[in-house]
Amino acid sequence: MIIVLRPHATAEQIEQVVREVTELGYQPSPITGVTQTIVAAIGDERTQANLESLTALPQVESVLRVQKRYKLVSRESHPGDTEIPVDGLRIGGGNFSLMAGPCSVESRAQLLETARAVKALGATVLRGGAYKPRTSPYEFQGLGPDGLKLLAEAREETGLKIITEVLSERDVARVAGVADILQIGARNAQNFQLLIEAARSGKPILLKRGMSERIEEWLLGAEYILAHGNPNVFLCERGIRTFETWTRNTLDLAAVAIAKKESHLPVIVDPSQGCGRADLVIALCCGAIAVGADGLLIEVHPKPAEAMSDGHQQVDFDLFAKLRAAITPFLEAAKKSVSPGEAGPEGCV
Ligand code: PEP
Ligand code: MN
Repeated sequence: MIIVLRPHATAEQIEQVVREVTELGYQPSPITGVTQTIVAAIGDERTQANLESLTALPQVESVLRVQKRYKLVSRESHPGDTEIPVDGLRIGGGNFSLMAGPCSVESRAQLLETARAVKALGATVLRGGAYKPRTSPYEFQGLGPDGLKLLAEAREETGLKIITEVLSERDVARVAGVADILQIGARNAQNFQLLIEAARSGKPILLKRGMSERIEEWLLGAEYILAHGNPNVFLCERGIRTFETWTRNTLDLAAVAIAKKESHLPVIVDPSQGCGRADLVIALCCGAIAVGADGLLIEVHPKPAEAMSDGHQQVDFDLFAKLRAAITPFLEAAKKSVSPGEAGPEGCV
């Protein structure tokens, strides 16, 4: 860290800063300029004391970080792209993953019909919320354990891997008993105790970006999971809240490109929560692939108009088939192929 002292700090005041820096475990190296002195504090900022508290001293103007706050998720710690094994499937690296399914698990027929339809178009992971985080307590909260049973049945029948959201620490073991990937939702992106408990389950985790989270905070959320012994994390951009009202959220594709630069973890894009409009989902999927996404998490429903949650943003089977065809040239240009699943319809990768 660099400690910038106010102009004309006295020799005694500089000495005091040097002493404090040493006491906090860093090696101080003062540099005296014409009017101002700076003290370079040499040491590992990520694991040692944060020197920002030194701004409480009257002679200190500011304290600047040199190192990034995250370590395990950074590209510096792992220059190549990480590929995550999900029960025989590999996600990330050169493999592109289609994760698709309804917002909420509503019924056996709805889930199985959707599972078959998305599998036939190349999806390898089935999404579906059994526990739903709803803004109003009067809205459908999900089928809970019954929903998990249906997800297990869909996996049994189709072989699709399951991604489903875990809302609380209390449910981690139960959800991990069925899920191949645990989804941590936007509303829980900084629920650190949940992140730790989910990490301990040993399951791969898809971490959504919080709706008002900075990219650094999102990466630090992932750092929690890695720091607690679980290296299998997918970052998921799902839109942030802005002043715009034409879309539910603003899908931040720049954040996808930045996450790919900063981190070795696979980045998945959720265009459905990202814009809240079925008619924009295809365009956003193409954009996501163009900026480097490793996979898509898409809401698909047999009859969106009858959905118990997020009906306006779920695509029906016809639109999903169009989406599958539309992304083909983008995948080819990105030199990515859909990870092993059944062959898609004519014209698809
Ligand atoms: C969802 O995937 O249905 C969901 C609730 O996601 P998010 O946490 O991104 O809002
Ligand atoms: Mn949803």
